[in-house]
Amino acid sequence: MKIIYTDVLVIGGGLAGLRTAIGAKRRGLETLILSLVPAKRSHSVAAQGGMQASLANGFKGEGDNEDVHFEDTVRGSDWGCDQQVWRPGASPGVACSAATAKW
Ligand SMILES: Cc1cc2nc3c(=O)[nH]c(=O)nc-3n(C[C@H](O)[C@H](O)[C@H](O)COP(=O)(O)OP(=O)(O)OC[C@H]3O[C@@H](n4cnc5c(N)ncnc54)[C@H](O)[C@@H]3O)c2cc1C
Repeated sequence: MKIIYTDVLVIGGGLAGLRTAIGAKRRGLETLILSLVPAKRSHSVAAQGGMQASLANGFKGEGDNEDVHFEDTVRGSDWGCDQQVWRPGASPGVACSAATAKW
């Protein structure tokens, strides 16, 4: 059996995993992604409507913010999403999405 050593092992090659891996690599850490399916087959690639984040820079973007994004997502999931998990996710989502879009 071949044993591979790495500083960071990222499980999953979707957008979350890829973003984490790039961040770790940029900090000089040796990084490896382990994914069940190739990155290009992840749900992130299937999301053809684009990423959602409250950048407030689009059509009808005035007044958009992370609270609106949070509420929209809760309503959109018909109150099915875990609000405690999602609440902090709505905030860094803006910075993460903007950075990822530039990459
Ligand atoms: C058809 C479709 C359309 C969508 N449209 C939109 C949209 O328009 N706008 C939007 O914002 N969101 C949309 N979504 C939702 C969006 O795609 C997901 O919320 C987002 O891609 C999740 O990203 P992720 O990196 O967390 O997970 P994923 O992209 O699902 O990646 C998960 C990764 O984990 C890996 N993995 C899973 N299990 C294991 C395991 N046991 N071991 C190792 N690796 C594993 C997989 O191989 C995959 O690479 C859509 C989803 C689908 C399916």
